[in-house]
Amino acid sequence: MNNSNFIIAIDGFSSCGKSTVAKALAKELQFVFIDSGAMYRAVTLYFIRNHVDLNSEVSIVQALENIHIDFVPNGEKVQILLNDEDVSEEIRLMYVSEFVSEVSAIKAVRQAMVAQQQKLGRSKNIVMDGRDIGTTVFPHADLKIFMTASPNVRAERRFAELTAKGETITMEEVRDNLAHRDYIDSTRQESPLRQAEDAIVLDNSYLSQEEQLKIVIEAYNRRKEKASI
Ligand code: C5P
Repeated sequence: MNNSNFIIAIDGFSSCGKSTVAKALAKELQFVFIDSGAMYRAVTLYFIRNHVDLNSEVSIVQALENIHIDFVPNGEKVQILLNDEDVSEEIRLMYVSEFVSEVSAIKAVRQAMVAQQQKLGRSKNIVMDGRDIGTTVFPHADLKIFMTASPNVRAERRFAELTAKGETITMEEVRDNLAHRDYIDSTRQESPLRQAEDAIVLDNSYLSQEEQLKIVIEAYNRRKEKASI
């Protein structure tokens, strides 16, 4: 346990509702919320726009040097800026989702993002969600949650989210994308997605957002109590 700041790591598969829980938790506790997936999405967007060759380490390293990512609070929301451009909406589009796991599996990309994430967590109370937060980014996080949900529930949630934004997409495409990302995320060499041994598992297939928040707040209170004994 850190003396000055409290770190909450929330990991899990794609579209498990990690960000929703993480955001609500951060709001409730007045912690800073950091969506690490948004960072990988922003890098992916940059790579797509600039036709970065994924087989060329030199091009990747050069591109990473030109990428600057910022999180800027804007009312209730947090905007993600890629080199000062607000890309919050664009990084959620399917053409980015289709490519993000390939980009996220690259060692140089992970090293750069993990270093930035660790910096963001220095001396602040944070809730960070992602795939490797409790295992690689903050292996000593004060509280670790590993979220799961059934593949059908996840696909339905993601489908509803995308169609609400006006994307023309089939359920089949959404299901394929989730399965594809799960596979790459959990089998890659560099910090694959896996449950940290000391993580609390939260299957939210049939839980409301309020019920999920209650469970994580209780876990947080237990952790705080234990730390003060
Ligand atoms: O969380 P989200 O689904 O937006 O993340 C997009 C992608 O970014 C994931 O599918 C994964 O490939 C990658 N990611 C990662 N490590 C993290 C967060 C996200 O590899 N900590």
